[in-house]
Amino acid sequence: RTVYVNGEYLPETEAKVSIFDRGFLMADAVYEVTSVIGGKLIDFAGHTARLERSLSELEMASPVTMDELLAIHRELIVKNNIDEGGVYLQITRGAGSDRDFVWPDPEEVPGGIVLFTFAKPLLNSKTMDEGIKVISVEDLRWGRRDIKTTQLLYPSFAKMQAKRAGCSDAWLVEDGFVTEGYANNAYIVKDGTIITRQLSSDILHGITRAAILRFAEEAQIKVEERPFTIAEAQEADEAFVTSATGFSQPVIEIDGEMIADGTPGPIAKRLREIYVEEMLKTAI
Ligand code: PLP
Repeated sequence: RTVYVNGEYLPETEAKVSIFDRGFLMADAVYEVTSVIGGKLIDFAGHTARLERSLSELEMASPVTMDELLAIHRELIVKNNIDEGGVYLQITRGAGSDRDFVWPDPEEVPGGIVLFTFAKPLLNSKTMDEGIKVISVEDLRWGRRDIKTTQLLYPSFAKMQAKRAGCSDAWLVEDGFVTEGYANNAYIVKDGTIITRQLSSDILHGITRAAILRFAEEAQIKVEERPFTIAEAQEADEAFVTSATGFSQPVIEIDGEMIADGTPGPIAKRLREIYVEEMLKTAI
């Protein structure tokens, strides 16, 4: 694979970052993952808008403009011949001259930037046909989950617990209510109404979530933005998760309890179809 590192396109085996890069030392970095279908980026505008917000919340500067960022994404898709998959982008506060809790002056230290692509089938997914099983774990992340930082140790820990329990995902629970999935937003459906936690600093403002809720409203499906418990989810008619590379994926089991009859629900399926069809219209 060809990757992009701090201004250069290089084979992945030759790409290097400084050991003093604050992304490496302190997870002082933000990221985005944009999906690719038919060689085109899905909702690039949504991802760059969130990236700019993450950067500004952390008083970080991007080393490239958003137009340059699009050009780099496109160049990597072409160089690596990506038809279906995605592009990972990470911007760090750069490398100071030493390890220091104080942020370096952005005028003196440029941010670090890394992009790489991955090929992955997105449209034909086994999880869509079969649904996924989740476990619940306590949400022990920091309080600014609305900023998409690379502090992913806790989500990784939650994913490992899920894997060991024979499940693929973990739903995070705080004060008795589900915040979101370890790497996706969480939803339940009851009596035809979609229920998902409202936006706040407790959850990541999913780019797919925004689009899915818009399409749900357009399809006259009612949406209630409020917290829900695991017990309520286990009694729901349907459950699902959304993310940029997973679109909407049905959840069929939570903590060993089947959701309804344990098969993927119709609303997750319908929203996934609408999502793919609509988003392809604005893919670039
Ligand atoms: N919530 C968390 C914690 C995530 O890590 C992600 C994606 O990585 C999402 C939600 C879904 O966000 P998006 O739809 O923008 O991919």
